[in-house]
Amino acid sequence: MSFPNLYYKRATATAKACYICYKPTTVVLATIDTSDFLYTCTIHLADHGFATRVLEPESENKIGVSLEEIAKVREEWEKKQKQKKEKEKEKEKEKADKDKTADEDEKKDDGKSDKSPKVPGSLPTSGSSTPKPTHEKYVLHRDIFALRVSEHRRRRQTSQAKDLAPRLPGAPSSSLS
Ligand SMILES: [Zn+2]
Repeated sequence: MSFPNLYYKRATATAKACYICYKPTTVVLATIDTSDFLYTCTIHLADHGFATRVLEPESENKIGVSLEEIAKVREEWEKKQKQKKEKEKEKEKEKADKDKTADEDEKKDDGKSDKSPKVPGSLPTSGSSTPKPTHEKYVLHRDIFALRVSEHRRRRQTSQAKDLAPRLPGAPSSSLS
């Protein structure tokens, strides 16, 4: 199993030690399928010796693509996504129509549960500087990434050794002699 050197910034509820300096942090860098993740403090997140943020439109621009072209491509892509979504919606609607008859009894219960008291102001509206989740992408420094890969390899090897252990013959018994 391997994983790409592309990590997404996420936030966790509980703070753990930074991978580099062991300072408690709630920021995690994780691969898309979380096959690898590591806690990172904000200082090391900005440290290019550790990780570098991937900026999307700007990096594309370096190749010589004009902003206009990017906008055009993006527009087309958005259009396609919209069409895709609409198709999915239609599919869901069809499904919902099919399930409707079976769900009717449950719907009555839903009406009741809607009346459950809502606690006003319980949502944490203040304190978070970024209201919308931005999944910032990062690429680990190649040395750090190599460390992660070797760590995974080692872990896999030890787990494999554990799996094999029961099947291995025991120490040569002295009863034969
Ligand atoms: Zn750190």
